Amino acid sequence: MNHDNDQYDIETLGVRAGIERSQFNEHSEALFLTSSFVFNSAAQAAARFKGEEPGNIYARFTNPTVTMFEQRLAALEGAQRCVATASGMSAILATVMGLLSAGDHIVASRSIFGSTVQLFNNIIARFGVETTLVSPTDVDEWRRAVRPHTKLFFVESPSNPLTEVSDIGALAALARESGARLAVDNCFCSPALQRPLELGADIVIHSATKYLDGQGRVLGGAVLGSKELMEGVFTFLRTAGPTLSAFNAWVFLKGLETLKLRMDAHSASALQLASWLEQHPGVERVYYPGLPSHPQHALALRQQRSGGGIVAFDVKGGKEAAWKVVDATRMISITANLGDAKTTITHPATTTHGRLAPEQRIAASIGDGLLRVAVGLESVRDIQADLARGLDTL
Ligand SMILES: *Cc1c(COP(=O)(O)O)cnc(C)c1O
Repeated sequence: MNHDNDQYDIETLGVRAGIERSQFNEHSEALFLTSSFVFNSAAQAAARFKGEEPGNIYARFTNPTVTMFEQRLAALEGAQRCVATASGMSAILATVMGLLSAGDHIVASRSIFGSTVQLFNNIIARFGVETTLVSPTDVDEWRRAVRPHTKLFFVESPSNPLTEVSDIGALAALARESGARLAVDNCFCSPALQRPLELGADIVIHSATKYLDGQGRVLGGAVLGSKELMEGVFTFLRTAGPTLSAFNAWVFLKGLETLKLRMDAHSASALQLASWLEQHPGVERVYYPGLPSHPQHALALRQQRSGGGIVAFDVKGGKEAAWKVVDATRMISITANLGDAKTTITHPATTTHGRLAPEQRIAASIGDGLLRVAVGLESVRDIQADLARGLDTL
């Protein structure tokens, strides 16, 4: 089922879209561990290399398991084409290298993944592509940052770790007006909760490492969009080789089968936990798009199906109090990963955002008392009790 994807719901697409069976007619998706593919004749080899005949050639750029993952994720995002990559970071790199040239300019939200800021400012900048960082929520600041050679808008919504919500439709309209493309890192929502292309974005980027796997096993990424835009991204991948491994693609295919169920469960538990935290005397402020107190709650309800699985909160008492809450946990994992069945807790100021200069951290509102919890699939009562251990002593 690839030609009639439009008629199916997202639950069905997650389970069935993109399957291509081998001559053995296996029911579950096959894992093709092979680096190259055999041709029937010299003429066929020549036709494949010229692109005159479709088919697999070499696994740096063609592998049936990876293709199945690409087709399934494209169906879920409503994209014409998906290019899978080795990680979320290489998906962002492939987007820039595939679509931009020296002299081009990027406008990006200030509230993006720490490594993405490093990639733009310290690596891509060395090749003559400059980035201006702006507020995730103030569209006028984006408008003022646009230059004649601005080619890419880059945003993450909700953002990490403060869950700020950007108006994807408004940014898409401004991008069109400015001759730029809008790329949305859809990591926190996944297509189960938010479909940026429907909201007007041109490109969707994923760290598949997070919710698409959903069980913290392997790294991967993806770039999605129109056939025309993805041709540039694919050409970079084919030539430079930050390719998704077939094994990891197979893990993601199985992850996508349960994506909708998991995202609904993550969201329901996160909302319950956020509401509880908001009432706790040791907590200064809670950041969760599903709460009416969130500054962009109404916008979040318009563009997302629910609030997602990430809750951030400021504890009273700064770093010392925050570390106390982290160290008092017995079940929750102290790790920077997110989007796992296992709940994780992070102190952003000293880990994920530790490489930022103090003034950059202040500009991004990453306070010393801030904690980020990626709510997993355990009982929400047990997650709450584990956080209460530390919070109740503050
Ligand atoms: C983790 C993450 C990335 C990077 O993905 P990797 O798979 O770790 O390379 C990019 N964006 C967001 C929002 C992330 O959470």
